[in-house]
Amino acid sequence: MNRKTFLKSLAILPLTAAAMKLNELNKMTESFGGSDKMPVLFLGHGSPMNAIEENEFVAGFRKVGREIEKPRAILVISAHWETKGTFVTAMQHPRTIHDFGGFPQALFDVQYPAPGSPELANETKALIKKTDVGLDDKWGLDHGAWSVIKHMYPNADVPVIQMSIDYSKPPQYHYELAKELAALRKKGVLIVGSGNMVHNLRKVAWNKLNEVDYAYEWATEASEKMKSYIIDGNHQPLIQYNAQGTAFNLAIPTPEHYLPMLYALALKDGKDEVQIFNDKAVAGSLTMTSLKIA
Ligand code: ZN
Repeated sequence: MNRKTFLKSLAILPLTAAAMKLNELNKMTESFGGSDKMPVLFLGHGSPMNAIEENEFVAGFRKVGREIEKPRAILVISAHWETKGTFVTAMQHPRTIHDFGGFPQALFDVQYPAPGSPELANETKALIKKTDVGLDDKWGLDHGAWSVIKHMYPNADVPVIQMSIDYSKPPQYHYELAKELAALRKKGVLIVGSGNMVHNLRKVAWNKLNEVDYAYEWATEASEKMKSYIIDGNHQPLIQYNAQGTAFNLAIPTPEHYLPMLYALALKDGKDEVQIFNDKAVAGSLTMTSLKIA
């Protein structure tokens, strides 16, 4: 169709229909384009049982879900998907992965049938310049993703993709890679890091599982320092977490639960503020501390 015929065809469109089209277009740019940007979350996911239990932490996830404008899609960086290289899930229908053992059948019965978003996977791949992001068709949603997202969007009606954590790369690399996702915030995409800031499973005080906010001294020390760096916007010591002494070393024995927090922090811009919620310890060596950056 040349320009002239195109203009002609516009002219014969009934005025109301044309106006409606324009209206829809405006609405879309209002919510997903322009200056509006989505918040970024870091969610402390803790035990997989949080997927099916009722407690103050899942109430916190629900609350933050209600506070946020419903996203076009969600991109999750979960502690439970580590790969060599960076991948995004690109399938239409991600499966619910039950990547744990020794839990009640009810937890294995949970399905979270949110659609995927091959479009967002491709968009993310195109956006990241630091590395060649692979499109994955085998993973799905691991419990780091579904056990928390399920409370925010129980109807599973928001598409979800995951981005993996490259285990071969240092923290600074992850922080810089995360920054390249910033443009997605203006496109209606909610970026969620899912892990735990303090996470040492070897030190879990099993006899204190039901005692709310029980923390070892080193866990409290690390948690308080992390939060003060976060509030001050002082990210360097958080990136160089393994140069911060004993408390940090005990809090972060392996990086996978901590790094999703760095992904979230890296996306904080000059206008964002950080809200801390679910700020409690569990069983001595875990914190559920979560962040809303908006
Ligand atoms: Zn976990």
